Amino acid sequence: MISERVNLLGLPRAELEAFVAERLGAKPFRARQLMKWIYRRRAADFAAMSDLAQDFRLQLEEVARIAVPEIIAQQISSDGTRKWMLRMDEVQGIETVYIPEPGRGTLCISSQVGCAMDCTFCATAQQGFNRNLSVAEIVGQVWLAHRELTQARADGRTITNIVFMGMGEPLANYRNVVPAMRIFMDDLGYDLSRRRVTLSTSGLVPQIYKLADECNVALAVSLHAPNDALRDELVPINRKHPIAELLAACWHYIDKQNGRSVTFEYVMLDGINDRPEHARALARLLRGRPAKLNLIPFNAFAGTRYRCSPTATIVRFRDILNEHGVIATIRRTRGEDIDAACGQLAGRVKDRTLVRLGAKLTGSRVPAEVP
Ligand code: SAH
Repeated sequence: MISERVNLLGLPRAELEAFVAERLGAKPFRARQLMKWIYRRRAADFAAMSDLAQDFRLQLEEVARIAVPEIIAQQISSDGTRKWMLRMDEVQGIETVYIPEPGRGTLCISSQVGCAMDCTFCATAQQGFNRNLSVAEIVGQVWLAHRELTQARADGRTITNIVFMGMGEPLANYRNVVPAMRIFMDDLGYDLSRRRVTLSTSGLVPQIYKLADECNVALAVSLHAPNDALRDELVPINRKHPIAELLAACWHYIDKQNGRSVTFEYVMLDGINDRPEHARALARLLRGRPAKLNLIPFNAFAGTRYRCSPTATIVRFRDILNEHGVIATIRRTRGEDIDAACGQLAGRVKDRTLVRLGAKLTGSRVPAEVP
């Protein structure tokens, strides 16, 4: 039997160096050349790698490949936001969103097919959890977006920031998310600084501590409520890791990583978490701490029971926070017309009933990775 060819996409530098040494008897600089071809020059086949010796390329063909996910659909919003759906299997997809802004381009990527966190206001939660993405599938989203954007535009607009704010809970897929982030920051990978790679979590406390020891990126935390009673309801993981524990982990992270601040995300839900006393309670939690608040207008999706707070309420909420010494900003909603806004990613390849049926038939639901 022919052994399966190793997918080089997503292999961290040290592993790629080990691979070329062990399988091909090649020097470490070959690994560096390969990385440049794969990430900078977006090569998907070895034949195109013109500065590699012909026999080395042939050898590579035999033992390795560069496999990227398949794009099933691309949508472009009237505001320039792009959304790609990538095939994961017959019924499920994941979504990746590119948000162009003056002077920067943010790619919002997914870490799992579905999500197990069950936040009540998020469309991804409705489909449940299917599986973790591999490192190649995570890095592949950046690879594809990079290729599509370069092909589509002459003005050189590219990816300057990567955020794990698509589908899934990145810290529940720690094992694959961390190597992917290393490639985003590797100077032979996407060469992004640690402040331009943001991991957003619903609050998996043990993994925040682990991350503090192992990987230095910007941290965003989905807070959404200033007290445990309300957060238990909106973000169920709070029942396991309540606010005090979560905040302690955040301050530890900043301390350990010598970071600037944690960005706390706060979705504005009409009549639920948007009263002035909520803002004051939040200020008491965060004042004097390395924290910023990002208020996210709620984005509706089919079947939700929530509504977005009125603009005047959001503005007042922000002002109260600012008056109490906490920096708060309002996130501008992007890509709403193509269901690409925060919390709207659903990954429907086919009709929803088929997704459920498919999952049942294949028994493909597996429990989240436990730390
Ligand atoms: N699981 C991670 C990252 C995914 S979501 C996390 O929870 O942080 C990225 C952000 O979008 C989170 O802050 C999430 O709470 C928010 N979000 C989810 N659903 C939303 C919706 N319908 N409207 C606005 N923001 C939403």
